Amino acid sequence: MLFLKNLYIITTILLLTSIIITIAFSYLNKRHTSIILKKLQLVVFSAIITCFIFYWVKNEFVAELIWASYLILLDITLYEIYEYICSLDKENEQTKKLTIHKKLYISMIIVDAILLFFNHKTHLSFLINAVDIDNIFTTWIVSFNKLFLIRLLLCYLISVAILIHLIKDILKSSKFNRPIYITLLIMFLFILLSNVIFMLTSQQLIYDFSTIIYGYLLLIVNHFSVVSIPKYIQKNLISISSENISDGILCFDDAGNCVYLNRFAREFYDGNRDNNVWIDSYLNSEADVLMKTEVVDFHNEPHSFKIEFRRLRDEKGRVSGCYIKMNDCTSEVLSMQREAYRAIHDELTDLYTRDYFFREMSRLLKESPEIPRYLVCTDIKDFKLINELFGSDFGDRLLVRQAEMLKKANREGIIHGRISGDRYAMLIPKEYYNPELAKKNSDKIIEMEKEINFKLVIYIGIYEIKDPTENVHTMYDKASLAIKNIESGSNTSIIYYDDTLMNRLMLEKTIVNEFDMALAENRFEMFLQPQIDVKTKKCLGAEALVRWNHPERGLIAPGSFIKALEKSDQIHKLDAYIWEKAAERLSIWKKKGIESYISVNISVKDFYYYNLYDYFTKLVEKYDISPASLNLEVTESVIINDNKNHRVILNKLQEYGFLIEMDDFGSGYSSLNVLKDISMNVLKIDMGFLGQTGNEDRAALIVASIVKMAKSLKMEVVSEGVETKEQAEILEKYNVDIFQGYLYSKPIPVAEFEEKYLVEVNK
Ligand code: C2E
Ligand code: CA
Ligand code: CA
Repeated sequence: MLFLKNLYIITTILLLTSIIITIAFSYLNKRHTSIILKKLQLVVFSAIITCFIFYWVKNEFVAELIWASYLILLDITLYEIYEYICSLDKENEQTKKLTIHKKLYISMIIVDAILLFFNHKTHLSFLINAVDIDNIFTTWIVSFNKLFLIRLLLCYLISVAILIHLIKDILKSSKFNRPIYITLLIMFLFILLSNVIFMLTSQQLIYDFSTIIYGYLLLIVNHFSVVSIPKYIQKNLISISSENISDGILCFDDAGNCVYLNRFAREFYDGNRDNNVWIDSYLNSEADVLMKTEVVDFHNEPHSFKIEFRRLRDEKGRVSGCYIKMNDCTSEVLSMQREAYRAIHDELTDLYTRDYFFREMSRLLKESPEIPRYLVCTDIKDFKLINELFGSDFGDRLLVRQAEMLKKANREGIIHGRISGDRYAMLIPKEYYNPELAKKNSDKIIEMEKEINFKLVIYIGIYEIKDPTENVHTMYDKASLAIKNIESGSNTSIIYYDDTLMNRLMLEKTIVNEFDMALAENRFEMFLQPQIDVKTKKCLGAEALVRWNHPERGLIAPGSFIKALEKSDQIHKLDAYIWEKAAERLSIWKKKGIESYISVNISVKDFYYYNLYDYFTKLVEKYDISPASLNLEVTESVIINDNKNHRVILNKLQEYGFLIEMDDFGSGYSSLNVLKDISMNVLKIDMGFLGQTGNEDRAALIVASIVKMAKSLKMEVVSEGVETKEQAEILEKYNVDIFQGYLYSKPIPVAEFEEKYLVEVNK
């Protein structure tokens, strides 16, 4: 018995110190203590103390009171457990139902407490008797009465309810939380068991070891709920979450053996390190942290992964392993690549954008300045007009086709860009540039003209890069400047830039700048070139040709300024000036009784600036001259660039009495078609177009047939540019009506013309 006493003292003291230490630690570490522990700590603690004191108290009354309070504390402990178990159940209905139970239980505790307090009088619950242990020491032994047994029975019933509740919770709870309930269940079973054992053995053991067991169980529960179980749950939750996240996780031990792969990594890794040599590069690296983007084959397709490699070290800095986290960022990378691609490629044609082209061009020229290169620039003639006439859909298709043709020349060192609208540029090493291929490709684009019945022309301007350090924009300007100089003619016009082009352009610019002033100062002069009757060799009239009497440069022929004025939309002012001069001269002649005519030139653009019908009818009225003495010369472009309006105007003028002349016939493209569309009075064949091709016989034949055709259309034929007697003889043979050419006279000042020819007419 002494052994039991010592055992009881030692275990109790040990327990009390452990509980005190645990409580102190949990407060010191601010560690979260489970709710049940908070609830039980105090009551169990008090119960143990109370029970402990009981065995050493000498006074029977005090001992009885202590035992009574000990039993009440046990009641409360049971209640706390019961309440805790109930609180775990979150469902409202059940909580409500349980409140009634709780109320019942509380009232039972109160009744029990009252009965226990009056136990020393009634002895309904228990009896205590002093016992002598081994004749050394006296203590109390408790024996229970009937009421106590009823009370015990009730407690057991409640315990059963708790048990059922716990089992239900275990079944309901998730895999991770289950250990909590199981621990609670085991603890509770132990409490019950120890209680039952105590009840059965209380007479022999004397000391109530069950309370001590409660205390130890409490410590165990504390350990589980605060340390072990959370750790277990944590571990499980982490592995579950890392198992299912979309990133790949690979863990390696310090020797580099793979110890953990989550689902994604397994799929990827496939247990085969050989396929993933890149992993070794991380494992073998010296660094503790590496962040990189890696392109790796996954499901037989290249994928981009953001790789995070971390070496794990213990507190002493020793390597304990490492992990690789891989995040599949393929779509991100792709969309970034797409964005980057779009930023430097033109949306419609996929060629480089203007800025990027120039940037790349600068880079290439800097990188390998020794390679001789061309900068080729292309332009579709009248693209704006094409867009307007045939719709931007057609325009877009044309642009795409052109870009495709450009892309055909796709070799290293060649770059293409869309500079603006229909303007493309290509930087190409000289050795790759093949003008024939360029022509072929252009022809393929031009094929599209069949769809629209409109003449497509592609201009190609080429700038040979001699100084690679020159500003790339300047180079481009020069290539496009070359284009500006292309005279219309063949379908594809290729022109190489040279400095004279630049000079010519500069000259054009000054011309345009000086034009208004020159016109105001009457610096333009009308020259006349006689038109000679083939049969009589007499002068019938003249063509008015303008000359610029420049104060510094002397007399300038129209070849060097008419085009510039047309381009800068100023030609109508000069034309009106010459028409006025011609009309004025005709009225002077009329007054003198001289019968002659003057042909004036009308530019296409004049149709846009004036109502030409009104203009000319008013002009002849103003000067009181016959419309038949003022002939109007138009080129075929007037008819081609028409939506019928020009033809209507010309017809009306014809009806009024003017003679309409088709100028430069044969130099253009669709001359024969033009004649079909409008009736003209005079056809002017330019001898220049027959040229010095060495094919005079064929040329003569063509002239012969043109004359024949003109005659059948009841047109008079004027042959321009007659320079030699031979020409004159042949033309005479072909029945040409009128000659105009250097053979007879160059264009001369009016006074000279009047003196030389009109006198003659009057004779
Ligand atoms: P065009 O209307 O075809 O005028 C005939 C041109 O041929 C004139 O050149 C004339 O000098 C030139 N010519 C005449 N006979 C011969 C010859 O035997 N051999 C050669 N090689 N050339 C000959 P010009 O005066 O230099 O005028 C050039 C062009 O400028 C004209 O061609 C015409 O298109 C335009 N032009 C002249 N004056 C005016 C004007 O007042 N208004 C407009 N819109 N254009 C004008
Ligand atoms: Ca003319
Ligand atoms: Ca002409």
